[in-house]
This record gives sequence, C-alpha cells and structure tokens, in this order.
Amino acid sequence: MSFTSLPKLKDCRKSLTHKGSYRNYGASSKTHIAIHHSLARQSSGGCNAEAYARYHTRNNGWPGIGYHFVIEADGTIKWCHDLGVKSYHVGNSNRFALGICLSGDFRYEKPTAAQKESLVNLVQYLKRELPNLKAIKGHNEFPGYSWKQCPVFNYRAVLGIRGNEVPSGTTITSYKAPRTQSSNLLKLERPYMKSDAVKSVQKVLGVSVDGIYGPKTARAVTQFQKAFGLTVDGIVGNQTRSALASPPYRGILRRGSKGNLVKVVQQKLGGIAVDGVFGAKTEKKVRAFQKANGLAVDGVVGRNTWGKLF
Ligand SMILES: [Zn+2]
Repeated sequence: MSFTSLPKLKDCRKSLTHKGSYRNYGASSKTHIAIHHSLARQSSGGCNAEAYARYHTRNNGWPGIGYHFVIEADGTIKWCHDLGVKSYHVGNSNRFALGICLSGDFRYEKPTAAQKESLVNLVQYLKRELPNLKAIKGHNEFPGYSWKQCPVFNYRAVLGIRGNEVPSGTTITSYKAPRTQSSNLLKLERPYMKSDAVKSVQKVLGVSVDGIYGPKTARAVTQFQKAFGLTVDGIVGNQTRSALASPPYRGILRRGSKGNLVKVVQQKLGGIAVDGVFGAKTEKKVRAFQKANGLAVDGVVGRNTWGKLF
C-alpha cells in the first residue's frame, strides 16, 4: 500500500497555484525529510496549502509551493509535489530533502492531535517509498538554518524518534552545523582582529577583503543580522556564521524595494550607496552583475541572481 491510500490524503498536485515547474529527480534522490511549521496561526484565513502556494508563487517568485506535503489542522494531508521534486524549503538541501509542513505557528500554539496522527501515518508510508531515506530532521537542523525557529514543536517525540534513532531499516548520517567556540567569535575590538575567518565573512558581505575586523565589517555584519532576523550585535558567533554560510533567499527584490535585505544586496554589489532603497543606481548595478554572470538581465534580484550573489 502506498501513502496515496491514506484516507486523509488529498491530491493537490494539480490544483495548487503554480507558475512553471520544479525538476523531479525521482524518489531515490531523497535521503532526508524536513519538518516545518507554516508560521501562520491556525485560526487565520491564510493557514492552508492553497495560501502557501499563492504566497510562494506570487511573493517569492517560486515555481510553486515549497513543501511536498502540508498537514492541515484537521489532519488533512495535502499532497503538493511528487516525492522526487526539488522544491524550495531548505536552501542547499532542497535536492535531497522532502518537505512536510504542519499548518500552524507553533511558537504560540500546538499541533492538533489530528495533525500529529497524520504526520505519523504519512512518515510511516514514506519510509517505505523513499529507498534512500536516512534521517528525519527539523528545518533548523539543516546546514545554514540553525537560526530558524522551525519547526518549534517536538516532532521527535511525535514520531517516537529517540536519541540518534533512525527510521527502521536505515542508517543515519547525522550532520551537525559546525560548532564555534566562544574564542572563535569575530567582533570589533582593539586592536582589530585579523584572520582568514574575517576574510571569508568579508567575502560574503561584499566588504573589501583585508581580513581585518574593523568598523566597516562590523557595520556590514549588523546589516546582515537585521536583514535575517538574527540577534543584532555586530558579532559573528554560531548563529550569524551559520546564516552567512548560506544566506537564505527571501523573495524578489526589485526597483522600489526597501529595507535591510536591499542593504545587504547593495553592500554585496559594491560601488553604490548602502541606503536600503532599491533605486535606479542599484538596478543598474544588478543589471551589470547579471550580465557579467551570464544571468537573464532584468535588473530584478530573484532566486537565480540571489544564488550568484551569495
Ligand atoms: Zn521551515
């Protein structure tokens, strides 16, 4: 029996809003399952797969919804993509991770009993249908996402995963985000710190690469932290280092866009004012960058341009 026979399953692969298609690499490409919550309250109107699909398509400019499955508060399992599809939900891990999202904001509420039951059932079936499945992880356990408050609820308890236990019949390859000792903190102090680690931070941020952690680098780090909702202290510790390793794409930036994310992009492009306002000069820079990198030249920072920038 396949997961398609689950009584609560609803095939939404064709009905959800989409704009193009993701590539399908086959079920054998999936070695991991990533668990998410939707960050939308269950009581709100926008707390369902249909709303996420519209948001991911229209606001983020993605080909379709990011998740393979959405489990709604009433336990309905909405099937959004074939198992092998590489959709967007865990950055660099998208190719090998299948995404299951439980509708709700579990910072403030709890998954319903029906949701938990559906999650257990779905995962039981997926274990059989993903021949190379090695591990089930929360979103924030994937590289580059340790700062993310997702999925918040204790999915391990729900799924009965203990310690390093793995889905039956498979072996885990558990990977942990690199740990940094407090002595490895990069910060503004006198005399200025100087190291190769500072250089790599400067490369990501677009600050001139001299390896010296001076005021300009500290300012760029602060901008970056603001843009990604990190603790704003101008210090590169675990959280910031991990976000720097793979700055998550946060949707399209174009002429008229404003804010800290624009600042991060301006800093990275270099040679323009870092004012957080996407105006004519920023657009021109983006076009030049796109041309130089063989991208479609439209002056808009979408996923591809973002990927080249960071
Ligand atoms: Zn997530």
